[in-house]
Amino acid sequence: MTRLFGTNGIRGVIGPEMNADLAVKVGRAIGTFVSGGAVALARDPRLSGPMLARAAASGLMSAGCDVIDLGLVPTPCAQYFVAKSGQVKGAIVVTASHNPREFNGLKAIDSRGMEMRREDEEAIESIFFESRFHVAPWSEVGSIRADDAAIHRYTEGVLSKVDGDAIRKRAPSVVVDPGNGAGCVMTPYLLRSLGCRVLSLNAQPDGAFPGRLPEPTPDHLGDLIRVVREVHADIGIAHDGDADRATFVDDQGAFVVGDKSLALLARSAVKSRGGTVVTPVSTSTVVEDVVRAAGGTVVRTRVGSPIVARTMFETGAVFGGEENGGAIFPEHQFCRDGAMSAAKMLELLAHEGQALSALVAALPLYHIKKSNVSVPVERREAVLASIVELAKGRKVDTTDGVKILEKDGAVLVRPSGTEPIFRVYAEARTPARADALADEGVALVKKALGGR
Ligand code: MG
Repeated sequence: MTRLFGTNGIRGVIGPEMNADLAVKVGRAIGTFVSGGAVALARDPRLSGPMLARAAASGLMSAGCDVIDLGLVPTPCAQYFVAKSGQVKGAIVVTASHNPREFNGLKAIDSRGMEMRREDEEAIESIFFESRFHVAPWSEVGSIRADDAAIHRYTEGVLSKVDGDAIRKRAPSVVVDPGNGAGCVMTPYLLRSLGCRVLSLNAQPDGAFPGRLPEPTPDHLGDLIRVVREVHADIGIAHDGDADRATFVDDQGAFVVGDKSLALLARSAVKSRGGTVVTPVSTSTVVEDVVRAAGGTVVRTRVGSPIVARTMFETGAVFGGEENGGAIFPEHQFCRDGAMSAAKMLELLAHEGQALSALVAALPLYHIKKSNVSVPVERREAVLASIVELAKGRKVDTTDGVKILEKDGAVLVRPSGTEPIFRVYAEARTPARADALADEGVALVKKALGGR
């Protein structure tokens, strides 16, 4: 059967692959799957958002669901709404997260506010592809109402989980760049509530994304970096399009790579509460080093935030996340939360009493080398099996792809979930060793492909 949901919901370019017809049918399928009841609806500011959201709402109502329209809010706000309501069956979030302007998507959230499990997605896919939609009779067609207060309750929720007094005492100077995304309606106000001196960039929601592209990578954050340097701010904070991720710029104007901000947040969680941190196999060893030193343990999972969140839920972890700026704070909710990450990073700076650049500089240093090898999708499984065979006798981790562990570094080789490539990710304590391990990973894939 063809898949509808990818690794992060249903995504596509507006047009033949992502349109009103699809959104109606997804709404109908999800409405049928949850068999009536209340379902929340939210969207990011993409220009196609109102079209898709209204279509999805129609589909939900036709299957007998009552729609609660939260409007333009961050994805984690919709998840928080569902998790705290206790009676809402789930949510549809209309967002393409970090993807470029022409994309949009539909994300399905379960009744606990978590990204839907693959089994549930499969059940929805089978309803969708077999057109087994429930059609509510005239008297049971669903209703729709707006709830404009969700964003305030979400803000209160974040504020209640951080040491606001410590942050207020320090009154840090913060430059925030929500990138014209959904974070505009949340983070600048949250920071002000926390007593920060706030300067904002690209802080009006605009689906044309006039300021920068939605992915908060260093090459898109030139303006943020320049302003942080110019005004001598303590920190710069950027979100992706739906604000479930946060990335940071330090007080020197240097972009903080996701592995390092994750390591700092993980250490802070373990220091205060002990316990387990969950992160995918693709995250740098720096997380392990700092968590172990603080007396905690690390559990590695397959790549993808839903599996990280579920593993945290099952293991009772104190923190988890990915190297792309997605961090999960279980005392708040079991999903990535960009505003919460921002607030926790400010709390950490206040508690440590050091500049972000100093905290980053004190972390163990790893050199990372990434590479890609083209592999046709139909050969993916065979190539992976052959790599496992070729790596026999070495210390390997096959949680996701193949990770070969050496004393002085590691190389992970894994098929991309979205592109016809294998990603090679090497890290070591010296640049030369990282290069050598990456070369070895590329050679392995090529050998498995039968090239040379
Ligand atoms: Mg996102």
